[in-house]
Amino acid sequence: MRPVRVRFAPSPTGELHIGGARTALFNYLVARASNGTFILRIDDTDLERSRPEYTDGLLNSLRWLGLDWDEGPYFQSQRLEEYNRAAARLLEEDKAYHCYCTPEELAAGREAARKAGKPYLYPGTCRDLSQEETRAYLAAGRSPVIRLRTPDRGETVVRDLIRGEVRFDNSNLDDFIIVKSNGLPTYNFASVVDDALMQISDVIRGEEHLSNTPRQQLCIEALGYEAPRFAHVPMILAPDRSKLSKRHGATSVEEFRGRGYLPEALLNYIALLGWSPGEKEIVSLSEMVSLFSLERVNKTAAIYDTNKLTWMNGHYLREAPLEQLTEKALPFFEAEGLLHAPVEGNELDYFQKIVDTVRDRVKTLAELAEASTYFYRDDFSYEPKGVEKHFRKEGTDELLRRAADLLRKLEPFELDSIEKAYRSLSEDLGISTGRLIHPTRLAISGKTMGPGLFEIIVLLGRNRTVERLERAARWIG
Ligand code: GLU
Repeated sequence: MRPVRVRFAPSPTGELHIGGARTALFNYLVARASNGTFILRIDDTDLERSRPEYTDGLLNSLRWLGLDWDEGPYFQSQRLEEYNRAAARLLEEDKAYHCYCTPEELAAGREAARKAGKPYLYPGTCRDLSQEETRAYLAAGRSPVIRLRTPDRGETVVRDLIRGEVRFDNSNLDDFIIVKSNGLPTYNFASVVDDALMQISDVIRGEEHLSNTPRQQLCIEALGYEAPRFAHVPMILAPDRSKLSKRHGATSVEEFRGRGYLPEALLNYIALLGWSPGEKEIVSLSEMVSLFSLERVNKTAAIYDTNKLTWMNGHYLREAPLEQLTEKALPFFEAEGLLHAPVEGNELDYFQKIVDTVRDRVKTLAELAEASTYFYRDDFSYEPKGVEKHFRKEGTDELLRRAADLLRKLEPFELDSIEKAYRSLSEDLGISTGRLIHPTRLAISGKTMGPGLFEIIVLLGRNRTVERLERAARWIG
C-alpha cells in the first residue's frame, strides 16, 4: 500500500471560502486517519490573480481552523523548472508539440464553432508541422504554446472514490495546452507534475474539478506517472440551489471569524456539507478523524444553511472551556469599547463571570459582547417595546423605588437572598413576581430579555443596581 499523502492546493486569488475549507478539512481527516501526510501547496502560477496577501490570509485561516499541515507550503511559482523538465520530456518523446497558432486564429476558430452551435475543439493545426513551417513561424517571431497530443478515439475513464467510474469520450478532448506562450504551465499540467513529484496518493477536491480530471489523467499517462486515487466532493449550493455567492451572506472563513464564530463550530458545520457521521451531528475534530471516510461522502450537492451553523456555534459557545472562550471573546469586547487588553486580576474574574452568564443566550462572540454592554456601561437606553409593556403601567416607578429600598439594605447580598426578598416583596404588595421582575430587568439592563435577573443583579452589585432602579423610577415619574 502506498503511504497516504494528500494535499490542499488553493490558488491565492481570494480568501479561504467554506468550500475550500471543507476540501482542506477532508484532506486533513484522510491524512490524520491513516497516519498520512497533509501537504499544503499554493497554486500560484496565475501571476495576474495571485497575491501574497491572499496566501497569508489562507495560511491564517487554516491555522485558525486548526488544520495544521505537515509539509509545505510549496509554491508552484518556485517550481517552474520541474514543469519545464516534464514538458521537455514530452516534446522529446513526441507526446507533446509546439503550437504556433495566434490568439486571433484560435478566436476565429472558436467563433466559427459558436456559429455552428458546436463546442470548440482545437483542430490540431500544428500537430505535424514540418521543420520549414516551424522555422517560418519562429522567424515571424511567434512564441509557441505546448500542447499534449491526445487520442482522438476511445475513452478516458476516471475512477472516483465518491462517484465511481466516470467516462469521458476522448473525441471531446482536444490537444490542450500544457505550457502557455509565456512559459508558465497550465493548472492541469502543473497539478499533475506536482502531484506525482510530491507522491500524492489521493487527490481530494471539489466537484468542479471533475471535468479537468480526464485531461490530468492523459498527462499522467503521457508522463508515465502512477495515478493518484481521485475523490471529488460535492458542490455546496445556496438554500435556493443556486451557486453560492456573496449575496448569500458570509462565505469566507475570515468573515465568519470576524462575526464571532468559533473554529470548532465552523469545522463541525462544514464537515456535514456532504458527509454524515451517522446519528449525531455534533462532532469534534478528533471524532471526525476516527469517523470519517470518503466512501461516506455524498454524491449530491450539499445545501448551505447558515442558520444551522449559527445554531451549532451557540452550542459550542455554551460548551467551550470558560477561560478559552473568554480569551476568544476579548477582541469582540474591545471592539465594543468595553475592555482593553491586557485584562487581569479582578477585571478578568468579572469578565469571565459575565461571559459565563451571558453565553447561554447568544449565538456568536459578537452577540456576546453586544449583549454584555450594560455590565460595563451605564449609558444604555431602554428598549422602547419594554417601556410600553413594563414601564407605562401605573405605579411602576413606585415599585422600582420599593425594590431599590429593599436591595439597599439586604444582607447578605446574594443570589438566594435577593430572590427571596423579591418574592416576599411581591407577596406583600399583592402582585405577581413578574410584575416586579420585568421592570427591574428593563431598569438595570435596558433589555426585556437576557440572563437570569438575579444573576445580573449579583454581577452588577448593590450600588449599581440600586442606582439604576432609582434612575428608572425618576425617568418614569
Ligand atoms: N488550485 C486549484 C484550486 O484551487 C486546485 C485544484 C486541485 O486540488 O487540483 O481549485
